[in-house]
Amino acid sequence: MHDIVILGGGSGGYACALRASQLGLSVVLIEQDKLGGTCLHRGCIPTKALLHAAEVADTAREGEKIGVHSTLNGIDMTKVNAYKDGVIGRLYKGLQGLVGSRDITYVEGSGRLVAPHIVEVNGQRYEGKNIVLATGSYARSLPGLEISGRIMTSDQALTMDYVPASVIILGGGVIGVEFASVWKSFGVDVTIVEGLPTLVPAEDASVSKTMERAYRKRGINFKTGVRFSGATQDDTSVTITLESGETISADLLLVAVGRGPRTEGLGYEEQGVSMDRGFVLANERLATNVPGIYAVGDIVPGLQLAHRGFQQGIFVAEEIAGLAPQTIDESGIPRVTYSEPEIASIGYTEAQATEKFGEVDTYEYNLGGNGKSQILGTAGFIKLVRKKDGPVVGVHMIGARVGELIGEAQLIYNWEATAEDVAPLVHAHPTQNEALGEAFLALAGKPLHAHA
Ligand SMILES: Cc1cc2nc3c(=O)[nH]c(=O)nc-3n(C[C@H](O)[C@H](O)[C@H](O)COP(=O)(O)OP(=O)(O)OC[C@H]3O[C@@H](n4cnc5c(N)ncnc54)[C@H](O)[C@@H]3O)c2cc1C
Repeated sequence: MHDIVILGGGSGGYACALRASQLGLSVVLIEQDKLGGTCLHRGCIPTKALLHAAEVADTAREGEKIGVHSTLNGIDMTKVNAYKDGVIGRLYKGLQGLVGSRDITYVEGSGRLVAPHIVEVNGQRYEGKNIVLATGSYARSLPGLEISGRIMTSDQALTMDYVPASVIILGGGVIGVEFASVWKSFGVDVTIVEGLPTLVPAEDASVSKTMERAYRKRGINFKTGVRFSGATQDDTSVTITLESGETISADLLLVAVGRGPRTEGLGYEEQGVSMDRGFVLANERLATNVPGIYAVGDIVPGLQLAHRGFQQGIFVAEEIAGLAPQTIDESGIPRVTYSEPEIASIGYTEAQATEKFGEVDTYEYNLGGNGKSQILGTAGFIKLVRKKDGPVVGVHMIGARVGELIGEAQLIYNWEATAEDVAPLVHAHPTQNEALGEAFLALAGKPLHAHA
């Protein structure tokens, strides 16, 4: 009998295994594919490597504008993939070493919950005082839309060995806009089709609006508030039809309509675990309704982000070890979209904050007043949302590289800082971080490089 048996070795599962082993618990970690899961092999890391290659392409293309003689002579996807796979390979090796160096029983194979405290893998049974379900997610499609040939999800798009001439992207959420950004930088004619009224609809309305303006300026086509009705493909192209009857054709169709929980056929329901549309229901201490069974990561309803999975994994290990860890505030989890421009946010949007807290104050600091942003030639803003005369409950940023500013924003939100707490702190000049400082100076009633 082990202390913990973990099913799934992605962000949530392996973080749980590492922390549990640190705490002296006996751990079994079961993985059917590659340790590291979606994030390392098919998610965060490969997409960010492509986005970096895209940034380099833009830099080469635009060097001339600032007097640096350079031209973009083309994209060699074989080399881009070699670079991307090199990054993944080094991290994978490091992670394997880390897990291997700990007292963790690593089991390769597909596991199934066959009793409330037993997971079976290849006919072998592993019994745990506690079970952690961490089987992650898969790319969803729409009814009747089969993933094959020219119709793909992020899984296939990440392994393509050529740059297409044109692409339709179904879905203007995080994954959709990140791929749009990469492909546009690589010279592809991109059209995003989104059913909701705006791109990045989960973000603050002013961020969505600015993102649309930026994408329009980049020549990325998009149609929002339109409903997809079907797609057909032949040897040369794919054509989608909207409910309005309009058709759009391109070389490829990327389906980026969200991710579903990977829980089917794994025995969860049979063992009495409460589920909702395939997601595993867990309380704020990540316990399911079955005593001793916990769930972490993308299978638990909420933000599907790697760092949420890490933190939930750590939490569950500490909970099982009896450390009574502090619960995770879901709105205190930072969210970054790594497109050009980047989007970074934490806490509540203005609309959510108004609904939750009643009257709120907001302040938008335009990056136009920030030296480093001018140097980078980026536009955007930092928007603060605070409770009337209270702490800041939302920070929303858009502009090149603003993802790197989320660390400070996260401390501000999670420490419930007021504008007066942050305004006296000195921010280095000239950094984009300074823009955050300026926004707080303004909110505290003493703007420096701000016009309002
Ligand atoms: C294109 C893309 C880009 C992304 N970019 C970001 C980003 O920039 N930042 C961010 O925070 N998040 C990003 N994400 C999301 C992130 O990858 C996920 O939130 C994260 O991987 C979830 O971790 P997890 O442990 O819940 O699941 P997963 O990482 O999916 O891991 C689950 C693991 O369980 C294994 N498994 C499943 N069933 C079984 C079984 N029966 N037996 C054994 N093993 C099993 C799977 O093989 C898998 O390895 C991105 C996702 C995608 C698709």
